[in-house]
Amino acid sequence: MGTELFFGTNNTGKLKEIREILGDQYKLLSFMDFPPFDVEETESTLRGNAALKAKAFYEHTGIPCFADDTGLEVAALNGAPGVYSARYAGPECKAADNIRLLLENLKDKEDRSARFLTVIAFYDGKEMYYFEGEVQGKILDTLRGDGGFGYDPVFQPDGYDITFAEMNPEEKNKISHRGKAMKRFFDFIKNR
Ligand code: IMP
Repeated sequence: MGTELFFGTNNTGKLKEIREILGDQYKLLSFMDFPPFDVEETESTLRGNAALKAKAFYEHTGIPCFADDTGLEVAALNGAPGVYSARYAGPECKAADNIRLLLENLKDKEDRSARFLTVIAFYDGKEMYYFEGEVQGKILDTLRGDGGFGYDPVFQPDGYDITFAEMNPEEKNKISHRGKAMKRFFDFIKNR
């Protein structure tokens, strides 16, 4: 079996997808293969949090690790919610609360442009490597679609007239911030 790599996730769908892309060259391990542990995201940038997690996972598992962090950056809100996207409306809030607050804060704004940015940090025990992916789009003023998660029902990527929540997952993965960052990371890891 191939070189071991750890990805900090409990999401079996994500794991399956990544295992298929990486093939036999790598053995992808996750939280399911180790006793539970948690890392608090205390940094003020996506890069900082991704690196913090990758390093903490490495210290816990002893094998090369990667971790991702994503934010929605809205131009008219000076880049908010950004690194705080998950807890924009408060520590225990749901996606619907975050969307409500976002639309409220954008009520009088003409500029609806926004982007999702994903940063992946990979730590091999010696060096930290970063990979980014972004998708530009705009924030609609009503929710559309019931697929995806998070801010998907109000995010319409440039060049499309449907939201992320109206796309099927394969279509979204092809153009999404996370899909692009993952592709860059996999190209790197496969050529190592
Ligand atoms: P995470 O770093 O992947 O956990 O993302 C942080 C937060 O950003 C999530 O809780 C969501 O609110 C938001 N987010 C990340 N990726 C997406 C996406 O693909 N669509 C919609 N919201 C997202």
